[in-house]
Amino acid sequence: MRAMDIVFLGPPGAGKGTQAQRLAEELGIPQLSTGAVLRKAVADGTPVGLRAKAIMDAGGLVPDDVVADLIREALGGEAARGGVIFDGYPRNRAQAATLDGLLSSLGRKVDLAILVDLPEPVIVDRLSGRRSCPKDGLTYHLTGAPPKVAGACDRCGGPLVQRDDDRPETIRDRLRVYREQTSGIEDGYSSAKVLVRVDGTVGGPDDVYAAVRRAALAARAALSSSPPAGAPAAAKPAAKGKSPARRKPAAAKRKPAAKRKPVAKRKSVAKRKPVAKRRPVARKRKPARGKGRR
Ligand code: ADP
Repeated sequence: MRAMDIVFLGPPGAGKGTQAQRLAEELGIPQLSTGAVLRKAVADGTPVGLRAKAIMDAGGLVPDDVVADLIREALGGEAARGGVIFDGYPRNRAQAATLDGLLSSLGRKVDLAILVDLPEPVIVDRLSGRRSCPKDGLTYHLTGAPPKVAGACDRCGGPLVQRDDDRPETIRDRLRVYREQTSGIEDGYSSAKVLVRVDGTVGGPDDVYAAVRRAALAARAALSSSPPAGAPAAAKPAAKGKSPARRKPAAAKRKPAAKRKPVAKRKSVAKRKPVAKRRPVARKRKPARGKGRR
């Protein structure tokens, strides 16, 4: 099967991580969240973490070379052979060029760029109200998805914390960095005809995911019926009476992917679990409370 590489674009707080996580589970393609990898490095006190912490706390971008190393390492891993879902990368034009170069050296390219968009006032509210349990990784929102007991995790009762970079003054900086450096990189993907825009405000996370999923399945179907990047059409193996298009691989694969238990496949390309920890948010919380994830 052809590898499929997807990037998630959009401002901080747009819900890229949640959406990328779900798509990773459904497609069986690992998710790589540079933010999560960096936060883990900070928590572990690694040299990268020590370099990144102050920058992250201030809402800036960690140097491109540091992040490029993470991406290179992840792409070199076995888990990335079938593709990667990038969340939080690329974040500027240089990173986009780096990613193109790395993928092209593997005979691959960005097959789909999903831009989840959201207006700034909504972002500020989402991020400033976000709280999480450092132990369980569950996240809450002060008004949108509050814990049963204020300030305490529903599951373990431990104290909830605010991410250092979710403080109002840092949120403004992150948004500025997004406006100045990240927003606009979608133009390249638009020219390459791989960009799909998704409105992050339509309904809840499930509605956003429906649009994300549609885009991904369409891209996968198109990919399955097109020749590999750089391969001449004649080099395609003779398909004994069945053209790839006639085999309808996307439809055929959709069911098993949806049914698949995510755990085994969800493993991160960077061999760490913070994304899984950040993910459960509402899905693992009691539905009885009737609060959706943000
Ligand atoms: P958000 O998208 O909500 O800001 P992330 O978890 O993606 O959250 O990123 C948190 C922080 O990690 C960023 O503000 C930045 O400092 C750093 N970071 C993440 N990805 C990158 C990247 N590709 N390049 C540089 N810095 C990054």
